[in-house]
Formats: sequence, structure tokens, C-alpha cells
Amino acid sequence: MKKIVIVGAGFGGLTVFHHISTWLNPGDVEVTVIDERETFLVKPSLPEVALGEKDIRDITFPLRPVIESYGHFIRSRVHRIDPKAQEVYLDDEVTMPYDFLVIALGGKKDFESVPGFREYGYSVCTDILAPRLYEAIEKFKQGNILIGSAPMLAGTRVKDVPHLETACEGPVGEIAFMIDSELRERGIRDQARIICFSPAEIFFEDVGDKVHEAFEGLARKHEVEVVINKVVERIEKDHVVFKDGSTISSALTVLIPTYRGPDVITASGLGDEAGFVPTDENFQHMDYENIFAIGDVASRTVPKLGHLAVEQGNLVASLLRQRITGQGQRYDYEPEIFCIMNMGNRKAMLIRSNTLWGGTTDISYHSSMSHLMKSSFDTYMVKFKGKMPPQLAQRLLNVYLGRFQE
Ligand SMILES: Cc1cc2nc3c(=O)[nH]c(=O)nc-3n(C[C@H](O)[C@H](O)[C@H](O)COP(=O)(O)OP(=O)(O)OC[C@H]3O[C@@H](n4cnc5c(N)ncnc54)[C@H](O)[C@@H]3O)c2cc1C
Repeated sequence: MKKIVIVGAGFGGLTVFHHISTWLNPGDVEVTVIDERETFLVKPSLPEVALGEKDIRDITFPLRPVIESYGHFIRSRVHRIDPKAQEVYLDDEVTMPYDFLVIALGGKKDFESVPGFREYGYSVCTDILAPRLYEAIEKFKQGNILIGSAPMLAGTRVKDVPHLETACEGPVGEIAFMIDSELRERGIRDQARIICFSPAEIFFEDVGDKVHEAFEGLARKHEVEVVINKVVERIEKDHVVFKDGSTISSALTVLIPTYRGPDVITASGLGDEAGFVPTDENFQHMDYENIFAIGDVASRTVPKLGHLAVEQGNLVASLLRQRITGQGQRYDYEPEIFCIMNMGNRKAMLIRSNTLWGGTTDISYHSSMSHLMKSSFDTYMVKFKGKMPPQLAQRLLNVYLGRFQE
């Protein structure tokens, strides 16, 4: 009996679980999923919570019934992994042995590294912070609204990944446009300047020129300003101080924090200098052939996107199947940026680009159709408990989007 343990039931972990459940023979393979949460959280919908369009209950579902239909679910915090003993250590001194381990613990969002965040900052990254931001937006009357990312950390063990300054700036743009739409609706848009700040030399550094042009046009139209090369030093009550010594006044500061690897990875000696897990191109740990790491926790995942976590989950599930059953084909993993940014007013901007990896796809599509695609996808995820839309829907989407690629 082979024991597969998946730590983390987010986008990556749940994808691997759903695949395994299709070929799992209960006599041969036992799968256990461990997560400290009882519910799955559709993080890409958090901006809608922050703007009062959705409730947290609309974007979560219970994990236990989903997992227990084919495997074991343990709600517990992972404290340490011993790769030599092949064991995972949990709360209450519970120990889980494994033959194969999939690490899908996501990234650690390091709010503490920015002084003043706790007192004066807001964010959209968790199910606690998004509702808190909603209250702040509700109360907002006038002044600057600053929205930006702190720099992401990166290790040096995995050489063949692009270097990015930020984990992902999609939520920054999304919140900016959604607040713009909200303030227009309230008739107070002229009372606010909306400013996106980026530590990088270019905002949305992970996409190509065509997407940049489209974004810049929309930013101009919506009077969303962008400042670059701004590394946040600290947040004060009414302004933000940057590392270059400059300050910008702010009545509402929204931060996507520094991403680093989770503490358990460093405590287990499994990480690089930034605490992310170094893997080869199959997402297999560089030092342990029975450990895989996917999604935000992996050094190789740049930028930190749910779409990439899912694609990597598809790949790792196919490799596990081959290793354990000798059957199936290796999933063809091709990284790309694929995200849909809501913009308020039932419009959204869809971005699909692989220029970061040397490809030529660089599409942006701003329309009500993009908004419909996002809301259909998010609803599908919740209704079908973390499963991705069927292949046919994805093929139709590819044909549809192909029209925008010259
Ligand atoms: C506001 C926002 C908007 C976004 N929008 C998009 C978008 O439009 N498109 C897109 O592709 N991506 C988007 N992302 C990024 C996306 O949400 C992440 O990339 C994705 O969630 C990563 O998946 P994952 O499986 O690696 O980790 P996660 O989804 O973070 O899951 C990690 C799981 O591990 C669990 N865990 C962590 N530590 C422990 C521990 N020690 N013990 C036990 N359990 C633990 C957590 O509870 C969690 O369930 C967005 C992110 C945010 C914050």
C-alpha cells in the first residue's frame, strides 16, 4: 500500500487530489490531505468581497466531505517534515508517514516586515483582511488611495526561473479599477486619486508589450495613476514612506505583502534562502525524489498564480500515476499567465501571456464577456468543489481567445 500525503488543500493540493481520485485503487494507494483550514478559499474572489459584491460564504466550501469521499482529511497544522524518516509532524504530536509527499502549502504573506501595516494598512489577501478592507472602502470620503506590492523574496537554487520583483500585481490593478468604479457610482470619484505603486521598473512586469499597452490605456481612461520603482519602507497613518526617501500621502493604503516560503519549510531544511521549495522542472524536490512541491510554495512558481498551481498539480498527479501504477501519460505543462481582473461595472480584463517564458502569446481582452468568464469560473470552482472546468470548455476558450492573437 503506497501512502500519498498532500499538505495544503488550496489550488495545487486539491487539483492533485481530484486527479488521484480518478485512478486511485483503494487497496493499493492511500491518500491523505492535511490542511489547517476546514474550508477551501477561492482567493481570486477576495477583491469582490472587499468591494461588497460577495460574502466569504460565497467563495468557500468545506474540504472534509470532498476529501473523505476518496481519502483521509486531517485538519491540522504541519509543523515539520522529516524527509529522511518520510514523516510529517502535526499538532497534538500526530505523525503521518508517507511514501510520496506533495507540498502545496502556498506562500507566507509577510505583513510584519512592513512597519505600520498592522496599525494603518489594509489588504485583500485573506478572508479576515478582505472584509476589513470592505469596511474601510465604505467609510472612505476623500484623499489618496495607494495600492501596491512589497517586493517578493526569491532564492538562488533554481536557476532557470525568471526573476520578478513582485509575487503578482493582478490584485493591485483589480482593486484599483474596482475602487474607481465604486467611487464613480457613489459620485465621489473626483475626491480621490487612485495610485498603484510597484517596486519593479514596470508595472505588470510578467506580461508583454501588448498587455502593457492595453493596461495603460485603461488606466488613463479610469484615471488610475501608476508609480514605479517604489519599495515600501513603512506605512504611517496618513502617508507611505518608500525606501528611496520619498513619501506619498494616503488616506487608504492597500498592500500585497512580501511573499516568502512558509516557516515549516525552513524548519524542515527543505527550502532555499527565501523559504521556497527548490524543484526540478517536474516539480520534484531537488534533493528528494519522493517529494514534490507545487503552487506558491515552489521556487519555480513565478509569478505566484493559482492558474500555475493548477497546471503544476495536473503535471505532478500524472507523474505520481506513472510512478505508482505505471500507467497514464505525462501532462504537458506549459507555463503561462492567465488571469481575469474584475474592473467593476460588470467588466473585466482577461490577460493571457507567455512572453515571460519566451512565448509569443500576449492577449488582453476587456469586456463584459471577460467578466462573465470570471464569474462562471469562480461559481464552477465552488459548485464543483475545486474541480476545473471540463477540457471541452477549456478548448472552446482557447478557440475564442485565439481570435485576439494576431
Ligand atoms: C487577492 C488575490 C487575488 C488573486 N487572483 C488570482 C487570479 O485572478 N488568478 C490566479 O491564477 N491567481 C490569483 N491569485 C493567486 C492564487 O490565489 C494563488 O496563487 C493560489 O491560491 C496558490 O495556490 P496554492 O495551492 O499554491 O496555495 P494556497 O491556495 O494558498 O493553499 C495553501 C493551503 O495550505 C494551507 N496551509 C498553509 N500552511 C499550512 C500549515 N503549516 N499546515 C497546514 N496547512 C497549511 C492553507 O490553509 C491553504 O489551504 C490571487 C491571490 C490573491 C491573494
